[in-house]
Amino acid sequence: MILNSSGVPRYLTNFAPKNVAHRFADVLIIGGGLAGLRAALEIDASLTVIVITKDAIRQSNSTYAQGGIAGVISPEDKIEFHIRDTMDAGGNLCDLDTVRSVISQGPDRIRELIEMGTQFDHDEVDQSELTLGREGGHSHNRIIHANGDATGAEIMRAVIAKVRSAENIQVIENAFTLDLLKFEQRCRGAVVAIDDNQKTLFWASETILCTGGAGQIFRETTNPSVATGDGHAMAYRAGVQLRDMEFMQFHPTVLYIAGSSRSLITEAVRGEGAYLIDSDDYRFMVDYDERLELAPRDVVSQAIVTQMVKTNAPNVFLSLKHLDPEHVRARFPGIAKAVAEFGLDITSDPIPVRPGAHYMIGGITVDHQGQTSLPGLWAAGEATSSGLHGANRLASNSLLEGLVYGVSAARRASQAARASSDNDLEVFPILSDQLRPSQASIDISDIRNSLRSLLWRAAGVRRDAASLTTAIETILMWQNYVLAQEFPNSEGWELQNMLTVGKLLCKAALAREESRGVHLRTDFPDTDDENWRQHISIAHDDA
Ligand SMILES: Cc1cc2nc3c(=O)[nH]c(=O)nc-3n(C[C@H](O)[C@H](O)[C@H](O)COP(=O)(O)OP(=O)(O)OC[C@H]3O[C@@H](n4cnc5c(N)ncnc54)[C@H](O)[C@@H]3O)c2cc1C
Repeated sequence: MILNSSGVPRYLTNFAPKNVAHRFADVLIIGGGLAGLRAALEIDASLTVIVITKDAIRQSNSTYAQGGIAGVISPEDKIEFHIRDTMDAGGNLCDLDTVRSVISQGPDRIRELIEMGTQFDHDEVDQSELTLGREGGHSHNRIIHANGDATGAEIMRAVIAKVRSAENIQVIENAFTLDLLKFEQRCRGAVVAIDDNQKTLFWASETILCTGGAGQIFRETTNPSVATGDGHAMAYRAGVQLRDMEFMQFHPTVLYIAGSSRSLITEAVRGEGAYLIDSDDYRFMVDYDERLELAPRDVVSQAIVTQMVKTNAPNVFLSLKHLDPEHVRARFPGIAKAVAEFGLDITSDPIPVRPGAHYMIGGITVDHQGQTSLPGLWAAGEATSSGLHGANRLASNSLLEGLVYGVSAARRASQAARASSDNDLEVFPILSDQLRPSQASIDISDIRNSLRSLLWRAAGVRRDAASLTTAIETILMWQNYVLAQEFPNSEGWELQNMLTVGKLLCKAALAREESRGVHLRTDFPDTDDENWRQHISIAHDDA
């Protein structure tokens, strides 16, 4: 199914090539999370690479990943088992070829991380063996982790060091990419604002988009502040096809304490045996799924929200008091510290949790090599829809996806950049729309907070036609005066992107009149394979 959606200008900023600075690279990579940096390391060393990150390089969803990375390592496990678990979680919408390809490459991609210096956790008795954890939806122990629950930080430490030592790669931090440059139906690079004000056109033979997720569009989220869906929005403005935007995965267990950041309590906690209990101390998952706390995330999130309604409580609890306290503290040091700041002991107190937006399944449609619908533009990681996750992502498959697609997109982009002539690195006569300067009277943070609350209410774990329709109308009203303006800094640009992504998500969620995977429509509670076992693609009207 194809949806069209308009009312969004082509560029967020006014520019003319004569009036701005220019930079050139063979390959431009927008985003320096795991997907972007793994791509950078795979580009042919004879080519020049520029990586742009909008904040400091360590600020990404990748750095915050806790539980680990899934891979078939144990002799008891098989590639076929991991494929089956991924397909089972995906609600009949995964692409089997993509799943097979990603899962089969997993062990190699993980080995490369080890060769780059990532220190994964090893068995306490046999130090030569990696410790393999279990998470929801996995039939075997296959989650490789580091420093207990700080896997992303350790992987990124090693990968960033490797990138910093590569002579052909330049990383530019605190540089906000506003838009993709398109000329004669080909991506030619991007418009970037360095330190918010220095507008620069980056021209590249090939561009790889790795801008990560969009959890920040919801009031409750595990994602850091950089995850505002910029890549989704800029791709959409450039007419690139997006897919399955209704599928936002909600993590079931996000710490819910007034005043605390919404820290994720990793699935691995339930993997180690933690119970979910309600305010009456009742282990309620027995009423919802035979896999109990280890049912897939959509099942657990939906069960928690239903139980919250039943018990009229704002949250449920994780209980670890029946587990060995020493093991719990050693396995989850980060979470133990986070809850201790609020006077809770992870080994004895119930930990208040509720679901929060966690992983954007929908995104820029890519083929097996990471090619998008726009020639010259490749994409990898959470910003994409590759077909791996279907309608629901299996835990710990996303770091893996970022690695696999980072490598594939980089190999193909290298090939294309080597084949293209130097003429491709020229300044093309592109003019932006003429936007009005921003009005001081717009309170950007007020609209941002209102949008996040609106989406949480209307397009959160439970959705229906009436609330989605109201949400779309409200966003359209805000868009009318927010999108036609030129803002001077990232606060305004992020709001423009969040409005665009929020509207696309609601439109797709309204169109999908069924429940599937992470998408729960209370007015269409059943899965309808006959009519809806299909993707919803979205393209800008101009495309
Ligand atoms: C708390 C948490 C725990 C998680 N745990 C796990 C786990 O255990 N296992 C697992 O597999 N997955 C996990 N995930 C998901 C996983 O971390 C992400 O899906 C994955 O890291 C995404 O990688 P990425 O490279 O695509 O994007 P990111 O790592 O988010 O990187 C995005 C990059 O894009 C840049 N960027 C964005 N917009 C712009 C712009 N406008 N201009 C310039 N640069 C821009 C950012 O600065 C950043 O460098 C977790 C996620 C969270 C939030």
